Amino acid sequence: AVRVRFPPSPTGLLTVGNIRSALFNWAFARHFGGKLVLRIEDTDTARNTAEGYRYTYDALRWLGLIWDEGPEAGGDFGPYLQSERIDIYADVVAKLMAAGRAYHCYCSQEELDQRREAARTAGQHSGYDGHCRNLTPEQVQAYVDEGRRPVVRLRMPDHPIVFDDLVRGEITFLPENLGDYVLVRANGYPLYPLVNPVDDALMEITHVLRGEDLLPSTPRQIALYEALADIGVGSGRTPRFGHLPFVMGEGNKRLSKRDKGSGLTEYVDRGFLPEGLLNYLALLGWSIAEDRDVFTMAEMVEAFDIRKVNSNAARFDPKKCEAINAAHMRLLPQDEFAERMIPFLTTAGVLAEPPSEDDLAVLRAAVPLVQERMNTLSESEEMLGFLFVSEDRFTVDPDAAAKVLTGDATAVLDAAAKALADLGDTEWTTEAIEAALRASLIDGLGLKPKNAFGPVRVAISGRRISPPLFESLELLGREKSLHRLDRARR
Ligand code: GLU
Repeated sequence: AVRVRFPPSPTGLLTVGNIRSALFNWAFARHFGGKLVLRIEDTDTARNTAEGYRYTYDALRWLGLIWDEGPEAGGDFGPYLQSERIDIYADVVAKLMAAGRAYHCYCSQEELDQRREAARTAGQHSGYDGHCRNLTPEQVQAYVDEGRRPVVRLRMPDHPIVFDDLVRGEITFLPENLGDYVLVRANGYPLYPLVNPVDDALMEITHVLRGEDLLPSTPRQIALYEALADIGVGSGRTPRFGHLPFVMGEGNKRLSKRDKGSGLTEYVDRGFLPEGLLNYLALLGWSIAEDRDVFTMAEMVEAFDIRKVNSNAARFDPKKCEAINAAHMRLLPQDEFAERMIPFLTTAGVLAEPPSEDDLAVLRAAVPLVQERMNTLSESEEMLGFLFVSEDRFTVDPDAAAKVLTGDATAVLDAAAKALADLGDTEWTTEAIEAALRASLIDGLGLKPKNAFGPVRVAISGRRISPPLFESLELLGREKSLHRLDRARR
């Protein structure tokens, strides 16, 4: 059975690159009815924050990338926090040492640097030179007597490491480029190149799908898997690897976690739909079909094939990301759309929490007016805030006022107010409002529509861009509409 993993560090930051990895693993697991394991790589305690764990779980749940095993889900291969697995690593290292697959290295940093420099000048490869590979007991004793504390290195094989990458095809690493590397620091601290493959082996991971930045560590990890298999740790089977293409940002540089647009929080705050963001991230390396950009996660799961992931670097295009999100906004059923706008309107302070039944009715009626026009949910307030905000808090955008509510506008607003005041409460419908305003402003005053309706729009919505005007007036109601027209006159 397929078992994949997503192993973030709980730093309180997930980037679009992390999420793409999580997404591809999730889709792969779902496609094959396998399991997604969430494992938290938190041995580097200095970088972890308490909120970092919470953030990671909440973020994945917000995205809908639900893990089958891991923190808060349980499973047979726990614990799933590496910080709780320190004894396991110590035990595995002892076994590797006993089997001669790993050894103590006493070289100091200065010695390593010196020999590396000498090797470089001599034109030789500059990895670890194997100095401590075959120390005699006397040599070891001498180092111990000097008070040196050893690191643990993995004894690398002297044959090439070849594997068939699911994305990039066959890849070969030559032994001269793969020195024996450090598994455990002199202070006993177990390193990523140890704990990551040990956990993959113990958790019986079958496929490792991750970013191309980790490709250089793969041959070392494969060597470790092979050593683990030989000493009977884990499933004994080396997982298949698939390295996902780099994500490039501005200026064709790799998107870094410091770049704008790289962190998940930004998308949550900006009111992206999880399904919109995930759809876009899926396109960073994969496509469902030629000429087709928009799809649901169910469709992705159905069609996902890691073999079809493109190995070329993918470009992160913020505009396209927003356009894909907008497409998902349009796909939402109207009631659902209203539902998703509510938190943005309450946070903005224009809707009460919970909203009143009257406001909810207005919101639902307003959805058809704005659903096609919005790219993200954070535009909710700008689009519809004027319908809910109380009269004492309603303001007109000063720029719109300066440009549209000029001296000439007073006559227009006067005429509009008078025409609308003649409509009774029961006549307050989109059609009647439109007829009244057209008769008075276009036929009566001989204005062009722009000059007729522009001032009315700014007066009632506070902005130059609003949902369709007559519908907006109907939804705002007679009393508030007249009040705002009145206020806008000077
Ligand atoms: N914790 C590592 C990272 O987030 C995991 C890398 C991997 O998938 O092996 O970069």
